[in-house]
Amino acid sequence: MAFLVSFIVIFGMIFISTLIKYQGQHVLPFPKESKEILRKYFDYYQNLNSEQRLSFEKKVHQFMRLKQFIPRGIDSVTLEMKTLISACAVQLTFGLPYVFLRHFKRILVYPDNYYSTINHNYHKGEVNPRYGIIVMSWKAFVQGYYKKQGINLGLHEMAHALHLENMILNDEFDFLDSTILKDWSKLAKIEMVKIKNGTSFFRSYGGSNEHEFFAVAVENFFERPREFKARVPEAYRVLSQLLNQDPAHIG
Ligand SMILES: [Zn+2]
Repeated sequence: MAFLVSFIVIFGMIFISTLIKYQGQHVLPFPKESKEILRKYFDYYQNLNSEQRLSFEKKVHQFMRLKQFIPRGIDSVTLEMKTLISACAVQLTFGLPYVFLRHFKRILVYPDNYYSTINHNYHKGEVNPRYGIIVMSWKAFVQGYYKKQGINLGLHEMAHALHLENMILNDEFDFLDSTILKDWSKLAKIEMVKIKNGTSFFRSYGGSNEHEFFAVAVENFFERPREFKARVPEAYRVLSQLLNQDPAHIG
């Protein structure tokens, strides 16, 4: 009996210490430097209230920890790069409960446009579901947020990743409402015809296919929400439902 009691006590102590260690890893605070970076450079974060900011920081922190950032043509991926690229993903998924684009485990960062050996062309970014990677040119990423003209590489690539993640069978599969997605698809087709006729609010690249249309619409949803809402109200309303947020009413 004494043996059994001591066994239970020892086992219990090991269990508790493991639990403390495990929880310890998860309560590491969000880096102060990252918070400062968001405060300085990330408008979306600046426009949130204090409660939302806390939730945003937690999601950015989690996203950063889940990804492997790989430098290409630069010495390292800096904390600033990691923070802002993660913040870009969280901006897009902020209205969705726990979506961290889990299939895409690696993020490759180039300093500028890079030469793709797959299609022998210079690229600013791409998403490759086969290898679970997201690729970004840092220069193009920064320009997108700086210029605020409805062209945003980071949001564009994250939108592709989100769209694909929803279709890939894993823990995060099928998180976008399928009825709303169907409504979106109908509106996308109408709008793509308008792009071909030159009468659309969206840039011509959005007319390439439904995936590109979604990515271009997401760029405008965050970069020019009020214009988007005024010019294409139905598409704005449906995208707002799909992502469960309304940037036209933030700030
Ligand atoms: Zn694209």
